Amino acid sequence: MAAYFLQKYADSPLTITLFEADSRIGGKVHTQKFSSTDITYEVGAAELYDYSRNGCDSLRELVAELGLPTQPMEGWGVVIDGKWIGNLTDFRSAFGDRELQNFIEFHRRAQDQISPHEFYAADHPEGLPAHFANSPFVPFLDRFASPVVRRYIQTLIHSDLATEPRLTSTTYGLQNYLMNDSKYMQLYCIEGGNERLVRELASRIDVETRLNCKVETVFKTESGAIAVESISSDQRDLDEFDYVIVALPHNHLNSVVYSNDRLANAVRKHFEYYNHPAHYLRMTLLFEKPFWRHWMKESYCMLDHFDGCCLYDESLRQPGITQGILGWLVGGDAAERMSHWSDEELLEAALDSLPKELAHGKELLKEGVIKRWIKAVSALPGGNNPPPLHVRHCPEPVEHSHLFFIGDYLFDSTLNGVLDSAEYVAGWIAANLMLPTVTPPNNSTIPFSNVHNSLHKTTKEVLHVNQ
Ligand SMILES: Cc1cc2nc3c(=O)[nH]c(=O)nc-3n(C[C@H](O)[C@H](O)[C@H](O)COP(=O)(O)OP(=O)(O)OC[C@H]3O[C@@H](n4cnc5c(N)ncnc54)[C@H](O)[C@@H]3O)c2cc1C
Repeated sequence: MAAYFLQKYADSPLTITLFEADSRIGGKVHTQKFSSTDITYEVGAAELYDYSRNGCDSLRELVAELGLPTQPMEGWGVVIDGKWIGNLTDFRSAFGDRELQNFIEFHRRAQDQISPHEFYAADHPEGLPAHFANSPFVPFLDRFASPVVRRYIQTLIHSDLATEPRLTSTTYGLQNYLMNDSKYMQLYCIEGGNERLVRELASRIDVETRLNCKVETVFKTESGAIAVESISSDQRDLDEFDYVIVALPHNHLNSVVYSNDRLANAVRKHFEYYNHPAHYLRMTLLFEKPFWRHWMKESYCMLDHFDGCCLYDESLRQPGITQGILGWLVGGDAAERMSHWSDEELLEAALDSLPKELAHGKELLKEGVIKRWIKAVSALPGGNNPPPLHVRHCPEPVEHSHLFFIGDYLFDSTLNGVLDSAEYVAGWIAANLMLPTVTPPNNSTIPFSNVHNSLHKTTKEVLHVNQ
C-alpha cells in the first residue's frame, strides 16, 4: 500500500525495493485453497470495514479504484445457551423484559459516548475527547450492563476485540460494540478472496520485490543514507536508501535490529508503548454441503463458545459451490489458551460447539485447517493516549527523520488502519521529495499552503529542508 501511494503521489519516478521475509507478499491478508479442492477460504483478515456512510472511506475508494467487485456481509445472530438471538423480540423471549430494558439503556449510553461521526474520526487525535481514551472498559460494563446483558455484549464483541474487556479501553470496547450498528459502519468482502486486494496492488506498482528476504538490521550511515541489511538463502546484502518505511506488525518489530543507541532506544519506547498483544485462532472446516443453512442464512453469527467466537459461513463468499465451509474465529485469552491444543483437538472442539440440531454435520466433514495468530493484533491500537500522527510514524525524528514506521497497531488493528498509516507516510515522503520545487527563491520560509495539506509537518521541518 505504501509503495502504491508513494508512486501515485510522487511527481517523479522513484526506485523502490520491497523486502519480504516470506515466499509471498500479503502477510495476514491471505486467501488460501484447501488441500483437497480448489475452493478457497480466508486465513487471516475476513472482512473489510465500510465507513462510507459517514465520510470519505479511503479503503472503499482504493478497492473501487482497483476494480475489485465486493459483496456485503451481514450477521445479526448471537447464540447463547443454544438460543438464537437475532432481534429485540428474541432478546426478550430469552431474558425477559427487564433485561431488555437494560440492554436498550446500555445501547443508548454507548451511542451517547461515541456518535457515528466521532466513531468515524476516532483514529485521529482530535477524533475523541482525550479523557475518554484512557478509561478502562470493565468499570463501564460493570456500571451500565447487568450480568446477563454483559454476557450478551461480550459474546457479541469478543472475536472482533481479540482480547478481554480488562485489557482494553472503553473507547476500543465501545467501538467494537457499536460497529454492529449499521449507522456506524458496514462490512464487505472482496469477491474471489480478500487477497485480490494485495495482488491488484502488486500488479500496479513498479518495485523490486525481494521475496524470502528477511531484513535483519537498519541503521544510518555516515553519509546520511539509511542502510538495510538483509539475508536471503544465506546471502547477505547491504543496500542504502534515502527513505525507509518499516511496514511490520507490532509482533515483528523486534525481528529487526535498529543500530545506534538513539534509534534503538526510540524504537524500544515505540514498541513498549504499543505493546498490547491480542490473539486469534482460526478453524476452517470444509463439508460436503452447507447443512446449516436452515439455521443460519447470514454471513456469520456469534457463538457463546470459546468465551465468544464468530462463526462464518465462508461458503457464501463463493456463490455456486455445492460444498459448505464454516470458519470459527476465536479471539483473546481463549485463542491463546487453545493455541497449545493439537489440530485434532481443535477440530473436535469446533464441531462440538455447533448447536445440537446441527450435530449430524460431523459426518459431512471433508477437511479442516487451523491457523494460530498469537500476538498478531493489538488489544489497544493507538495505545492509551494516541499521539499525534507524526509522532506515531517517526519514532526518532531528530537523526532519523527519513525512517518511518507504519502499521495497524498505530490506528485500529484493521486494514483500514494499515491504509491510513501507509497513505500518511507516503504523502509525507512524496511532499518532502517535491519540496525543492516549491521553495521560493531567496526566501527563508515556505507558506504552509504550498505543502500537501494532510502532512502535519512542523514549521521546523519545512525550514530545515529549505535551508
Ligand atoms: C485472524 C485475523 C483476522 C483479521 N480480520 C480482519 C478483518 O476482518 N478486517 C480487517 O480489516 N483486518 C483484520 N485483521 C487485521 C489485518 O489482517 C491486519 O490489519 C493487516 O493484515 C496488517 O497488515 P500488515 O502489512 O501491517 O502486517 P502483516 O499482514 O502481518 O504483514 C507483515 C509482513 O512482514 C513480513 N515480515 C516480518 N518480519 C520481516 C522482516 N524482518 N523482514 C522482511 N519482512 C518481514 C511478514 O512476512 C509479513 O508478510 C485480522 C487479523 C487476523 C490475524
